[in-house]
Amino acid sequence: MSNTLPNASQVTDLRSAIELLKQYEGEYIETNEPVDPEAELSGVYRYVGAGGTVMRPTRTGPAMVFNKVKGFDNVRVLIGLLASRERVARMFGVEKEKLGFLLKDSVNKAIAPVVIPREKAVCQEVVHLASDPAFDLRTLLPAPKNTPEDAGPYFTLGMAYAADPETGEHDVTIHRLCVQSRDEISMYFVPGRHLDQFRIKAEKAGKALPITISIGVDPAIEIGACFEPPTTPLGFDELSIAGGLRGRAVELVEGVSVGARAIANAEIVIEGELVPNYRVREDQNTNTGKAMPEFPGYTGEAKLEVPVIKVKAVTHRRNPILQTCIGPSDEHTNMAGIPTEASILQLVERALPGLVRNVHCPSPGTGKYVAVLQVGKRGPQDEGRHRQAALLAFAAFSELKHVFLVDEDVDLFDLSDVIWAMTTRYQGDVDTVFIPGVRCHPLDPSQDPAFSPSIRDHGITCKTIYDCTVPYKLKENFQRSQFMEVDVERFIPGFRK
Ligand code: MN
Repeated sequence: MSNTLPNASQVTDLRSAIELLKQYEGEYIETNEPVDPEAELSGVYRYVGAGGTVMRPTRTGPAMVFNKVKGFDNVRVLIGLLASRERVARMFGVEKEKLGFLLKDSVNKAIAPVVIPREKAVCQEVVHLASDPAFDLRTLLPAPKNTPEDAGPYFTLGMAYAADPETGEHDVTIHRLCVQSRDEISMYFVPGRHLDQFRIKAEKAGKALPITISIGVDPAIEIGACFEPPTTPLGFDELSIAGGLRGRAVELVEGVSVGARAIANAEIVIEGELVPNYRVREDQNTNTGKAMPEFPGYTGEAKLEVPVIKVKAVTHRRNPILQTCIGPSDEHTNMAGIPTEASILQLVERALPGLVRNVHCPSPGTGKYVAVLQVGKRGPQDEGRHRQAALLAFAAFSELKHVFLVDEDVDLFDLSDVIWAMTTRYQGDVDTVFIPGVRCHPLDPSQDPAFSPSIRDHGITCKTIYDCTVPYKLKENFQRSQFMEVDVERFIPGFRK
């Protein structure tokens, strides 16, 4: 890769990622002030660096480590590692505008994970077995509550990894995991998720599904895990995307207590089994009716019946770092949005080579619901093909709701410039394309029959294309004012454009 920055290639785990960030101004901060994991920790970070769809005021800021967590010895908590696109770009060694392309290429050169011997796996330096009567998840790991009304403590950045009980193919995904008792964790699945399909297969056979939750890993794994079909169909092990991105296989280790593999250099691994025909109410311990803050910026409702992981063991590195995130923060946008960009780029490039210059799934669009496509119409024949590209974007990612089309002279990473294009290159009656009645995503509260009579079921939406491009024939009339090219450094030494 031509524009690789020094050191990103040396990131192999969470600790090396943190060391890389420490070299930069404003990317990393830590505190020794004791913090309560129950709502206080997220309350602090909301102001420091959450960004995204979090309630205002918030901002983009550094990743933050809390060295002292009340009630927990020797476990630090990291929040916001990926909550800045610039920071993600630094950890991956590319410019932030190129992240979608890097991820697309990583899917195409995926490298399958490998299993290494136990004695080499740092995630098993310390082992706690649930069969020990003193074992209690609630005192072992400082899972945060993000707000005071959350259903309970949540693991928000666990890489859940399991195998299809019929084919043996693996899948990794991030799910909301609520600590329910000394050895039980509830696991919420949006319908259709691959791990849930594995769980249903096991349950139908009357069997438990062995699973591991790896927390605190190379951020390439965290972003790779967020790919969804059709880019990564059922049976596609998303860990191989991180392998492709880093150019080396992710290393796994067999669990100490269950027949499942974990990420060998994770900070913390929870091992357990999804129990067949057993459900709990997500807020059974608190009765708040709420789950936790979800990525659209609203707190999800506690579910009445969620599957349960019976925990068999927790293993960890010495002095582990528990990594967490605020659901609606910019961290989510990057984890969901960059794979979405990659998925769209892959499909439009295959169908309409050279037309789409870049794709951005911006923060206020949650990473999943909005995409801005920058197109370069090369001649009159490309007029209308740009709208075909928008239709392909919906096909590339089913949860997409709004597509904005802009020309090549618009900075798609600057939403002010996108709104400028919408102001001067868009007429509502001819440039808005409605595609009503399409199944989308359940967590957008406007996708509900109560919101619009056109919506037949919760989770159905009117997908919309906002065509903010100039008709090809009129391009000459839409030249932006052209300034003289100058050497600003002559006037301000060190000035960077
Ligand atoms: Mn999958």
